[in-house]
Amino acid sequence: MRYIPRDNNTWHAMHAIYALRHSGDEYNIEPVKSALRHIYNGCCAYCEGKVEPVAYFEIEHFYHKEKYQQWKTNFHNLHFSCPRCNRLKGDKENDTILSPNYYYENGEWVTHPTEIDSCLHYTGYLLFPNADATSKKGEGTIEMFKLNDRPFLVWDRLRRYIEVYNLLKVIFDVLKSGKDAVKQLDRPIAILFQQTISYTNPDAAYSTMIIQNFGDEIKKLLSIWNVYRKE
Ligand SMILES: [Zn+2]
Repeated sequence: MRYIPRDNNTWHAMHAIYALRHSGDEYNIEPVKSALRHIYNGCCAYCEGKVEPVAYFEIEHFYHKEKYQQWKTNFHNLHFSCPRCNRLKGDKENDTILSPNYYYENGEWVTHPTEIDSCLHYTGYLLFPNADATSKKGEGTIEMFKLNDRPFLVWDRLRRYIEVYNLLKVIFDVLKSGKDAVKQLDRPIAILFQQTISYTNPDAAYSTMIIQNFGDEIKKLLSIWNVYRKE
């Protein structure tokens, strides 16, 4: 699951919203597609996988388009989704699963910046619901999208997890061998850091998983490295 700060993408969203206003009943239009692709950085809102290298993305309606006609062309209800997640969700009722970002409550659309983090966490490459009052939404989301049961998805996450783990281990070993080693290996470590940090960018597949598992370690190692470099 991804949290997408839509406020950072106002221009794209505004353009899509304007186009929807004049599109009649049609939501599958170019401004919407390009806005969603941009906002979600090409990653599925639900499983976090990169969609387009292997499949066409689909526009997922969090509130189903046949049941809730009024939200069929509401941009806040449209999400970038891989075909598998879109199919798994289907028209199922949704008050026990997470919206990727906006959701509808007491007659208005609201955002929940911490919603996903407060309901779900990664331990290793597997997702778990948080053990508190919000766990129902987390459980429902994991179950509905089979986020821990789809072999391709789990394998892909594991591969990325191991890759980042190994990168960090190499960086840790170099930093541990003292500042002389760091001075000698300055450039190679910089490249490794760049590569590792790129996995935490919002355009990277499974970036939530990497940030939740390794975010603190990456920050710690970076600050040690910066101290060594300045000495
Ligand atoms: Zn997906």
